Amino acid sequence: METFKDKVVWITGASSGIGEAIALAFAKEGAKLVLTARREEELIRVKKLTGLPDGDVLVLPLDVTEFEKAKPAAEQVISHFQRIDIMVHNAGVSQRSYIQDTDLEVYQSLMNVNFYSTVALTKAVLPYMTKQKSGHFIVISSVAGKIGTIMRSGYNAAKHALQGFYDSLRAEGYKDNIKVTTICPGYIRTNISLNALNESGAKFGKMDANQAKGIPADECARQILDAVKKDKKEIYIGGFKEVAAIYLKRFFPSMLFDQVRKNIPE
Ligand code: NDP
Repeated sequence: METFKDKVVWITGASSGIGEAIALAFAKEGAKLVLTARREEELIRVKKLTGLPDGDVLVLPLDVTEFEKAKPAAEQVISHFQRIDIMVHNAGVSQRSYIQDTDLEVYQSLMNVNFYSTVALTKAVLPYMTKQKSGHFIVISSVAGKIGTIMRSGYNAAKHALQGFYDSLRAEGYKDNIKVTTICPGYIRTNISLNALNESGAKFGKMDANQAKGIPADECARQILDAVKKDKKEIYIGGFKEVAAIYLKRFFPSMLFDQVRKNIPE
């Protein structure tokens, strides 16, 4: 995709962190935006920050785990903009709890928000993209989509599921010019650890040291847009340690598993 000018970009989790930064980066390039998350007042704040004309930003509040609302939401986007060029699956929630302590409902909730919501929205959007004979999915996975670490079991499982599902979509969508760029960030400086779920599903509520030292969200967004412009299929964004870990797993998996075991979160 050479330019984002006038492209219609639907971003979930646009009310904070990486999603907000992606929205602002697309706005700078003249895209038209659909902003989705649960907190409408935060979406309105982000809309103002874009500086785009009123009609070029649709604020579409939605809890993405209410799967039955995905299709009506897509219809609302089409009725406003007549097309959807890019769908950014970014809404997500992390986890901070050991397997033995974690309620089954917490796992279901992590799968719902991080994985099934993207399936529901993809199925709602895909018919329009197929008809257009073009479309691009940006999937915010994680280094956790490649490596399973301590206290993140449900989050890791959901992000691994994203990797498999969207590899299939990339292959199935090829004939209709539908593209997929999967993003695997390492530590990005956002509120993700504050919003992570603990063993009973309550908010963890603490800023992780790794997150606090992470890459700024706007730098992450810049790298994401660059990857989409270049039609990259998958990229890794992060510090040396996180990106090196992905390659270590690929070429020397036993060494990586030993490292992960020793890396106990504080
Ligand atoms: P934030 O917690 O800042 O943002 C999460 C976003 O998801 C918010 O906008 C939140 O909006 C939205 N969200 C959460 N639950 C729902 C829901 N049920 N329905 C709709 N929207 C929802 O964290 P990040 O910006 O860091 O996270 C964005 C993505 O990046 C996630 O997928 C995360 O897994 C991924 N990621 C983050 C990394 C990091 O280090 N920060 C590293 C790797 C991946 P609201 O509360 O208004 O609904």
